[in-house]
Amino acid sequence: MNKDLEKNDFDSTIEGFCKCGTSLDRHAGLGCLYRPASPIKYEPIDVCDVVRHVPSGENWVVACIDGDRLYWAGYPFGGSAALSDCQLVTKASAEDRQKLLVKLSELTGFEVPILRARVRLTKRAPDAAPRPPFLDRLRARRG
Ligand SMILES: [Zn+2]
Repeated sequence: MNKDLEKNDFDSTIEGFCKCGTSLDRHAGLGCLYRPASPIKYEPIDVCDVVRHVPSGENWVVACIDGDRLYWAGYPFGGSAALSDCQLVTKASAEDRQKLLVKLSELTGFEVPILRARVRLTKRAPDAAPRPPFLDRLRARRG
C-alpha cells in the first residue's frame, strides 16, 4: 500500500471519508472526481453483494467469487464473468450473506457457487458451535 499517496489524497478530509463525502467503505467500485474506483482495496466483493457488470450494464447478486471469476446468483445459474468487469454497487449485510450461502449450499448440483457455499459453511461451523462439554470433562480428568 502506498502510504504517501493515500495521505496526500485524504489529508484535508475527515478520516474514513473521501473528499466527495462518501465514506471510504462505501466508495468501493464507485469512482469520483477525487479518487478512482477501488473495488478491492476497502471492501472485497463477496457473496450476496450487488455488483454492476460494466460491459452489459446489468446488476447482479454475487453467488461466488472464484479467483478472477464472479458467479452470479441469477439465471442461467452457474454462469460467471470476469471479476475485473464488475463494480461493487451494494454491500450485503453479514446476515443476508449467510442466508444466501445456506440457500446455495442446499441446492442440488455441482456448480461452483454451490460447492463453494458448502465448503464455506462447513469451515465456519466449528467456530459457531459451542464447545462440546465432554471435551472439558476429558481435560479435567487428565489434569
Ligand atoms: Zn469520492
